[in-house]
Amino acid sequence: MEYRPSTRRVRRRAAPPAFPLLLHPLPLGLAAFALSFFVLLLRGCAIAGQETEEPLPIPEDISAVIAVYDDENDCVRSMPLEEYLCGVVAAEMPASFETEALKAQAIAARTFTLRHLAACGGTPCGRLGADICTDSACCQSYRSPEQLAEKWGTDAEYYSGRIREAVYGTAGEVATYDGELIEALYHSTAGGVTENSENVFASAEPYLVSVASPGEEGTAHYAETTTFSSKSFATKLNAAFPKAGLSEKKLEEQVRIISRYASGRVESVQIGAIEVTGRQLRGALDLPSANFTIEFVDGDVRVATLGYGHGVGMSQYGANAMAKEGDDYRAILQHYYTGIEIENWNDRLIS
Ligand SMILES: [Zn+2]
Repeated sequence: MEYRPSTRRVRRRAAPPAFPLLLHPLPLGLAAFALSFFVLLLRGCAIAGQETEEPLPIPEDISAVIAVYDDENDCVRSMPLEEYLCGVVAAEMPASFETEALKAQAIAARTFTLRHLAACGGTPCGRLGADICTDSACCQSYRSPEQLAEKWGTDAEYYSGRIREAVYGTAGEVATYDGELIEALYHSTAGGVTENSENVFASAEPYLVSVASPGEEGTAHYAETTTFSSKSFATKLNAAFPKAGLSEKKLEEQVRIISRYASGRVESVQIGAIEVTGRQLRGALDLPSANFTIEFVDGDVRVATLGYGHGVGMSQYGANAMAKEGDDYRAILQHYYTGIEIENWNDRLIS
């Protein structure tokens, strides 16, 4: 449940573009149908019949159509932007979360998606020519209406209604900074405080700065302890960092946290002969977060972590906690993304 940032940078622009690809809903719908038919012919999409089903109905006048690469079935589907976002929000956040948290998630996902549209000055994913794909390692997670019906079972109608309310209730709304779409990164749980983007990813963004994330204590992923045998700890790290030279009998002398960022996340750690970043250690040991302590107890290594995910941008559990306290989606987004504005781009998407 976290965005990895796109490795592509969105092209900077001096003035809002004319959005040439975003047409009137009716011709766009026809064009989308023709495109999907053509793509289906070309690709032999295995579940083509599902294209015409609309378990999540959407008013025609509030959505552009985008091309989504289906990573599982290796084909491209054209679908209304807002319908696609229902599948993203449902995949990325528990549908039982507060409505205002779901709305904040919808805007983060919409903003992320529009940054992939060439018509919005963004860079498309490009797989089979699509705007965006369903591979979370590349773009963002997505669940089809059929997958959601199976996941939710008898609660499907209730949960899909909540998701629709969040997405359609914020249709067209995006988060901007200085008039440009933000990189709306998010993660599951901050562990009490989020992180500056430059401490995790390459670039510093003025709206991705560390803020408190209260109310997460006691939630599902706030604190976890992972225990390794000394042997497995040494083996995993020696495999990830061949120059470390760890010995399972000397771990207590060989492993030491050197520095932390102000948020508490580990900046650098000594492992044997080398120094690695906290994020590298998190990756090698598959830890929930880079905010960890390491303890050596009776031949085991206990790694206690706070939070889950990279820690940059919006904390989903923090957003839910804010919503429970009565904050609306605007307050949630403006808390986690410093200095942003919420704008409605619907007029630009549909004209
Ligand atoms: Zn992609």
